[in-house]
Amino acid sequence: MKTVWDIGAQRPKFATLQEDRTVDLCVIGLGGSGLTAINESLARGLSVIGIDAGDIAGEAAGHNGGFLLAGIAQFHHEAVANFGRERARALYQHTLDEMARMESATPESIKRIGGLRIAFDDEEFADCIQHLGSLKIDGFPGEEYEGPEGRGILIPTDGVFHPLNRAISLVQQALAAGAELFTNTKALSVESNFVATPHGKIEAKNILVAIDGNLALLLPQLKDDIYPVRLQMLSTTPERSVHFPRPVYTRSAYDYWQQLPDGRISIGGGRDIGGEEEDTNEVRTTEKVQNFLDQRIRELGITADVEHRWAATVSYTKSGLPIAREVTEGVYAIGAYCGTGNVVGALLGRAMVENISTGKSQIWSDFSHS
Ligand SMILES: Cc1cc2nc3c(=O)[nH]c(=O)nc-3n(C[C@H](O)[C@H](O)[C@H](O)COP(=O)(O)OP(=O)(O)OC[C@H]3O[C@@H](n4cnc5c(N)ncnc54)[C@H](O)[C@@H]3O)c2cc1C
Repeated sequence: MKTVWDIGAQRPKFATLQEDRTVDLCVIGLGGSGLTAINESLARGLSVIGIDAGDIAGEAAGHNGGFLLAGIAQFHHEAVANFGRERARALYQHTLDEMARMESATPESIKRIGGLRIAFDDEEFADCIQHLGSLKIDGFPGEEYEGPEGRGILIPTDGVFHPLNRAISLVQQALAAGAELFTNTKALSVESNFVATPHGKIEAKNILVAIDGNLALLLPQLKDDIYPVRLQMLSTTPERSVHFPRPVYTRSAYDYWQQLPDGRISIGGGRDIGGEEEDTNEVRTTEKVQNFLDQRIRELGITADVEHRWAATVSYTKSGLPIAREVTEGVYAIGAYCGTGNVVGALLGRAMVENISTGKSQIWSDFSHS
């Protein structure tokens, strides 16, 4: 499914794996998480093969809203309430650190212009103020905001990025550092040291599975902990009558939009409007959610034509924490970022490689301890 990110971008093509291979690390999934892990492995001197069932950034990593948000999916005050202040603070700080690393790795794709959480109603405004208060207690930046978008909070450290261009840059860096990448190469099964694909087997000391929306399909041992969710978006032709300088999310982050530098509007949301039908791995748009997005852009005063409509799947956990787990000896799974995996996915990809390479990772420990 084409998206606004495909305009002017060219995904590099790779061969399908056709033979058996032996390597230090096999990374399954060439989205933002897997590609970050590959570059981290190469920097640490590991030999690595990356495989993907489809194309580079062919699923959520190339089909998302392009928001770079600090923290896990839960707002900071919710994370504090659920996981304790010390741990919530550590998780938030890890994501800030990762955004800085992402910015320095692919500066051309990233803009740290701040992000707006806008209240949909008075109740949400009260929640925004609690959110802000919690950030302040921990010394994280945030301020109250009122402007044409509405009232809420501005988080100056957040930003936007071009997810597909960033993935392409990560691929170029990986190739330059000696990675071997194969597309149209689906992992059929994974066990300690072995990945089976249709035309070749990979023997690897360690395996990292970074396939967010499809995680429980390949690793059924995770199916009681995570569930798939489809997220939908649309984008318009350039719209001149509105000006949104910063990305906006509202309705407890169910809905989110941004205006791209060329004036195009890209908007996602309505997962709750779609209801249980959206708890699925099936990648297709639906009339119900797309009609809702059409209505949302009209409410924002946008009259430009819709140019692209798309969907992709991610995974959620009930706890709100992502999965970062050694599922069987030497097989590590990351994913289930609950819809905000752009930063956390890269962070956990890096953390798992750090653990594989050195035997420990503070980031992994902070994310995974119960
Ligand atoms: C519409 C939408 C909007 C979103 N907006 C945002 C946002 O604004 N900010 C944010 O932080 N997050 C957002 N997210 C979530 C974010 O996009 C994902 O969490 C993140 O991209 C996950 O990246 P990943 O690399 O872990 O997995 P993916 O991007 O899902 O990549 C997984 C890759 O694995 C491959 N694969 C799957 N199964 C196999 C297999 N068996 N063998 C080999 N390869 C396989 C796929 O082909 C795919 O390329 C959004 C998601 C969607 C769908």
